[in-house]
Amino acid sequence: MRHVTLPDGEEVPALGQGTWYMGERRDRRAAEVAALRRGVDLGMTLIDTAEMYAEGGAEEVVGEAVAACRDTVFLVSKVYPYNASRRGVQEACARSLKRLQTERIDLYLLHWPGSIPLEETVSGFETLIEKGMIARWGVSNFDADAMRSLLHVAGGEACATDQVLYNVGRRGIEFDLLPFLRERTMPLMAYSPIEQGRLPPGDVLDEIGRRHGCDRFAVALAWLLRHPDVIAIPKAVRREHVEANRRAADLTLEPADLEAIDRAFPPPARKQPLAML
Ligand code: NAP
Repeated sequence: MRHVTLPDGEEVPALGQGTWYMGERRDRRAAEVAALRRGVDLGMTLIDTAEMYAEGGAEEVVGEAVAACRDTVFLVSKVYPYNASRRGVQEACARSLKRLQTERIDLYLLHWPGSIPLEETVSGFETLIEKGMIARWGVSNFDADAMRSLLHVAGGEACATDQVLYNVGRRGIEFDLLPFLRERTMPLMAYSPIEQGRLPPGDVLDEIGRRHGCDRFAVALAWLLRHPDVIAIPKAVRREHVEANRRAADLTLEPADLEAIDRAFPPPARKQPLAML
């Protein structure tokens, strides 16, 4: 598995696993736990979750899945913006740690920009690092202007990543956010990398997949993973999906494939509002 380097030198797998919609139904729990474990066995050891997902239920699934292999896993979780006050992050993080059955979250993200001043949130994150409850912090759903504001806040430059919607059909960030992060050697984390299983229609991904002996989802993941500084976090419960996603990390697209994708899904020609799900 190829790795991506975070600003503090930590190496994480370029392909991780998402958990949105996990933890919502008791009868699916065993399958969700098994899927995450299979993914970890295959090297997808970065797991992304959030206190929002099933209101803590997804963190519980993750906690169960990694209980026996915690040291090999890089855990990412997120705090609700309305919990992101100096004191609120302490309490929210303590609850997440309990559900995750761990003493430390490896990367803790502000889920989206909210109304609590960033100074407070960053100061709260710094306290969590001092206490050993998180190893580092980052943000999610921040556009380039929000990132600029963050970097003006005392301590803001310690941000490890920005997790945003990015896939073949959602390329707006290539215009401004991706170059902005690159200038600061900050990796980007791509969520909904296969658009929740609803990739935009068009034959090009299927055609490329046929040439490489894989399907359109694998092509879409390989397209993201061609960037040295992008981490993709597909969510998969079905075992065949987990395994197919892992294979996608070994797929190298040809320049002609990339050109065909650019024709079908053109890169942005101007600034666009940040897309979100
Ligand atoms: P996604 O990963 O793009 O798509 C997940 C869907 O695709 C599931 O229905 C899954 O089915 C299916 N799937 C997975 N692998 C497949 C494959 N190889 N072939 C065909 N279908 C496949 O969508 P997402 O869950 O929205 O995004 C991924 C993760 O990003 C989330 O789980 C979450 O951790 C994170 N996220 C963050 C934010 C944020 O605001 N920060 C927002 C959205 C998502 P099965 O589960 O049935 O296998």
